[in-house]
Amino acid sequence: MTVQKVWSLFDRSQLYECYECSKCSGSCPVTLAGDFLGPRKILLKCLQHGSGRVIRDPLLWYCTTCQVCQDRCPQEINIPELLTGLRNKAAKIGNIPERVKFTVEKIAKTGRSVLGFKVERERKRYNLPPVVEISKEEISKILAETGFFKDLKIDH
Ligand code: SF4
Ligand code: SF4
Repeated sequence: MTVQKVWSLFDRSQLYECYECSKCSGSCPVTLAGDFLGPRKILLKCLQHGSGRVIRDPLLWYCTTCQVCQDRCPQEINIPELLTGLRNKAAKIGNIPERVKFTVEKIAKTGRSVLGFKVERERKRYNLPPVVEISKEEISKILAETGFFKDLKIDH
């Protein structure tokens, strides 16, 4: 299997700025709620084992990208960007939750992540105009040309 390079998506030198104060993990809502490794541990694992091992961990997907860790980090390390880079590479080796893959497929096929009729119903209820039409062909073309379908093995 090809080793996935996360460092094309995230500046690796930022990892060396960490002085392990744990402010990030101490304020991460997912770490506080359960089994999530926590931003500090993920960062340290990247340093110790390399990203190739970290992208195999399903717990990566617990992060909500709320950005609190970055806000609290005294070194201003962009941890959500690191996690996004890790997940982009994780998805390419098949480490992606079914639910996320289902939503991605929906975007690929309809241009939306939520069912249109529900959105329209709610907009009508609040006297809002209908949402602008999306060109499914355009979205399909963009995703095909960026290799999106191939990477995630999505039929379209
Ligand atoms: S808050 Fe920043 S410096 Fe502190 S442990 Fe987390 S990443 Fe490292
Ligand atoms: S962005 Fe992710 S890792 Fe950072 S605080 Fe939010 S849930 Fe935790």
